Amino acid sequence: MASSVKSVVPAADLQSFTEYLAGCKRIVALLGAGISASSGLPTFRGAGGLWRSHDATSLATPEAFDETPGLVWQFYSYRRHMALQAGPNKAHYALAELSRRNEDFITLSQNVDGLSQRANHPSKQLYLLHGTLFTVKCTNFYCNYSEDNYTDPIVPALEIPKKSSGLNPSATDKTGKEASKAITEALDETSTEVDISDASNPIATVNTKDLPQCPECKDGLLRPGVVWFGEPLPEKTLKAVDKWIAAGPIDLCLVIGTSARIWPAAGYVHEARSQGARVAVCNMDPNDTPGELHYGDWFFQGDAGVIVPEILKSVIGEI
Ligand SMILES: [Zn+2]
Repeated sequence: MASSVKSVVPAADLQSFTEYLAGCKRIVALLGAGISASSGLPTFRGAGGLWRSHDATSLATPEAFDETPGLVWQFYSYRRHMALQAGPNKAHYALAELSRRNEDFITLSQNVDGLSQRANHPSKQLYLLHGTLFTVKCTNFYCNYSEDNYTDPIVPALEIPKKSSGLNPSATDKTGKEASKAITEALDETSTEVDISDASNPIATVNTKDLPQCPECKDGLLRPGVVWFGEPLPEKTLKAVDKWIAAGPIDLCLVIGTSARIWPAAGYVHEARSQGARVAVCNMDPNDTPGELHYGDWFFQGDAGVIVPEILKSVIGEI
């Protein structure tokens, strides 16, 4: 399939990268929110990461879930919904293809949106550092229940409300403009849902009893299987990654859609370098680099969905 998007990668950089890539065996990729932004997903990271009037990071804590499980579930149900509305982009497909062609390639993702999985990225070569929105697990300390769950909404109480049909124009609207606008909107499928990320749209309070309940212990609430602030990263995942890194020299570290300045991502770039890796960064913002770039590194500025398939094309073919 021919790409209609013109390459934005400078030819000299592309050539030196391609020549180097041809001899690479052990490769690690680090993914952040930027790769999902290429699929149109809001990231809720950094300054201005508001959901309704809430700082999104304040909703991503065990304490917030204890205090207001209904609100926290509304936030995560919204994110599940948005992720399911979006689809993987060519960067996700390119990395999945590279995995199939090179079993010495691993991907460490900080994203919880399930897009790599939906691009059929081989699961054995994909490490989810922050969990996923599409696993739910029991909050009961004595219960280990967890399940993969892509049902949207996960329970009826978390369904995103639809705009009222608006086919009854207000008595004061003599022009009928309001009515015709409402009809147009009603006909447009994408505009029929209320944007509940906007605090000016009221939402109902969801009762705890209507939230997802554990089918096993029948005692605990289920929660999203993501790593919240203040929680440790998944131990098994970290151990497996450490083992892979320690197993030998690393040729290349791809940093895609993340500044990789935050632990553990920053640490992985450092460790890959100490195992000999050259680093290639793909980001929208030229200032978004994992510290100083070294001699021999690459920086590809632009949309990951365009750049990643382009720079990997010599190995994976056209995506
Ligand atoms: Zn349980």
